[in-house]
Amino acid sequence: MSNNQQLYDRGQKVLFQNYRTQPIALLRGEGTQVWDADGKRYLDFIGGIATVSVGHANPRVRAALEEQAKLLWHASNLYVTEPQIRLAEKLVRNTKELKRVFFCNSGTEANEAMIKLARHFHYANGRKDRIEILCFHNSFHGRTMGSLAATGQPKYQTGFGPLPEGFRFLDYGDEQQLEAAVNSSTCAVLVEPVQGEAGVLVPKPSFLRRARELTRKHGALLLFDEVQTGMGRTGKLFAHQHFDFEPDATSLAKGIAGGMPLGALLAREELAQVFKPGTHASTFGGNPLATAAASAVMDLLEEGLLDHVRQMGEILGARLSRLPHVAAERGMGLLRGLVLDGDLAPKVVAAARDLGLLVNAIGERVVRLAPPLTVSEVEIGEAVALLQMAIERAAANASVG
Ligand SMILES: *Cc1c(COP(=O)(O)O)cnc(C)c1O
Repeated sequence: MSNNQQLYDRGQKVLFQNYRTQPIALLRGEGTQVWDADGKRYLDFIGGIATVSVGHANPRVRAALEEQAKLLWHASNLYVTEPQIRLAEKLVRNTKELKRVFFCNSGTEANEAMIKLARHFHYANGRKDRIEILCFHNSFHGRTMGSLAATGQPKYQTGFGPLPEGFRFLDYGDEQQLEAAVNSSTCAVLVEPVQGEAGVLVPKPSFLRRARELTRKHGALLLFDEVQTGMGRTGKLFAHQHFDFEPDATSLAKGIAGGMPLGALLAREELAQVFKPGTHASTFGGNPLATAAASAVMDLLEEGLLDHVRQMGEILGARLSRLPHVAAERGMGLLRGLVLDGDLAPKVVAAARDLGLLVNAIGERVVRLAPPLTVSEVEIGEAVALLQMAIERAAANASVG
């Protein structure tokens, strides 16, 4: 059996070196816990970057996967397969107007489909000129060319041009800029209800409401990127349910299938109908195993897990805010960002890992936590105690070094 170091070294030789991979190899998980190749146990408070939504090796999801694995793994969309229909039915019974679903395999693909859908909607309605998509600084929508063009972080775009045109960036949360920018040639406003990768930024509710009003007034579309905020993460199935309105379309991925790769685009009928046969597709889209897993995740969310997320989110937020060296604590539900009072985040992440806690740094100052939605209060207590030790160690180190 290989240990952490051996596996890390093997990976260094053959894998692209495009990730800042940490030197531990994870072998096995159960609920909120994972074990590495040296046999060390961790509390997993990043959960595969918010993908392992109902805990590692969740028995219900596993049963769904095992059952489907006996039947059919893939057929493509040349034929009807039941698991994706079942999942779509479960998704749309939770929406007012977003009644149609397109499946793909990741967040960036869901956004790519959403961007194409928005452009094609206006095209099909005789408004070829309505191409401008308003996006926001520090947003993150993915790495393929279209969603990268919509991502307001120049560091990710540099050296990959030319990117698709027609994307314009505004300050997140600035209602006046939005008001000045939306007009009768706007295609869409594309926005994350909470900016996850920017460091868990929660806008004032009036900002998103204003985006809804302005897009409606000018005939533009409102597109929500709920790749990170969707599927229960904020304490509602969709973050838009914290409001009394829906976007015209929304993208989903990350936690949707509990750790299996799956993305989805939900849209209003009027939009969905412009994707005629041949306009857009994904060979693996709606894969039976991934959608069967996602159906099991949906069942858990509908059976009371959302209340649990709201309770645990409040407890976690309150405890995090009392930690030392904390300048601010923010987030919704079980998506939390801890803003430190110095450039300590990467050091805190490393110290926490040594102590047996997995969290993630966004930039130099923010530590992100996104534990499985099934996390218990006891586990939160344990994690916060470890994080406190990690912060103290990192701060002590920083003042010495
Ligand atoms: C992670 C993320 C994406 C990209 O998803 P991938 O599955 O990595 O392509 C897009 N948008 C948001 C808001 C995300 O958090």
